Amino acid sequence: MSFTLDFFALQGKTALVTGARTGIGQAIAIGLASAGAHVLLLGHRDNLGETKEQIETINGSCETLIVDLSEVDSIKEKLAPVLEKHKIDILINNAGTIYREPAADYDINEWNRVMNVNINSVFILSQLIGKQMIENGAGKIVNIASLLSFQGGLFVPAYTASKHAVAGLTKSLANEWASKGVQVNAIAPGYIETNNTEAIRKDEARSKSILDRIPANRWGEAEDMVGAAVFLSSKASDYVNGHVLVVDGGWMGR
Ligand code: NAP
Repeated sequence: MSFTLDFFALQGKTALVTGARTGIGQAIAIGLASAGAHVLLLGHRDNLGETKEQIETINGSCETLIVDLSEVDSIKEKLAPVLEKHKIDILINNAGTIYREPAADYDINEWNRVMNVNINSVFILSQLIGKQMIENGAGKIVNIASLLSFQGGLFVPAYTASKHAVAGLTKSLANEWASKGVQVNAIAPGYIETNNTEAIRKDEARSKSILDRIPANRWGEAEDMVGAAVFLSSKASDYVNGHVLVVDGGWMGR
């Protein structure tokens, strides 16, 4: 079939976006809705109103879903009615959390919380929804990785370990599911102005040293992730499998 711009269209598709209240997840949810998808907005508190409103403003379609992804034992039960009601075509594993402390003193409870939200829930959701996608013979999973899927970072050992694991899981699932019509890929955002980076943006010296290394000469915005997310959610990426797409203003090339 010859290429047309319709390859990027998401009409008739249902997407589930985790962590859709703020930042990158909010921008991606609005972007997918604008490309035509019905979007299930997942958050861990009843606070997704702003994202819902923004989607309704552009005449998009969405509904909200409350699941705490740190409580990994209850995810399956909470997702069951959603999977009965919807055939999910696109899963964006975006929700993430970060805890900063020098490694020697790192709180093990925080380690476990970060691992549960950033990687264990990603596996559980991918397994539950991936199974449905395999049965349907089609699906797109997009995981949100990080530059710390490649680098070590400072004072964020759990975050770094979890994001390396996200990159590994992306390739592992892609290898198993590519032949079944399910594409599993990831986006590795650079330094983006969201709640996640508030602490390092407030640290003037740290913020300047980061900016000095970014060839694009600016921090990224959540909206900078949307093009890559729509591409990896659409027919345009049907032969892209197990790729971690860096969207970082050139950081990794330095
Ligand atoms: P953010 O605004 O803090 O977004 C994180 C989202 O995850 C929020 O909507 C948050 O909800 C949700 N979340 C947190 N814990 C959750 C839980 N237990 N259950 C369900 N949802 C939960 O930061 P962001 O930068 O957009 O982060 C989005 C993703 O991008 C994360 O995976 C992050 O690691 C990744 N990332 C960010 C950057 C960056 O520079 N900003 C760079 C690389 C990768 P609440 O706000 O309601 O807590």
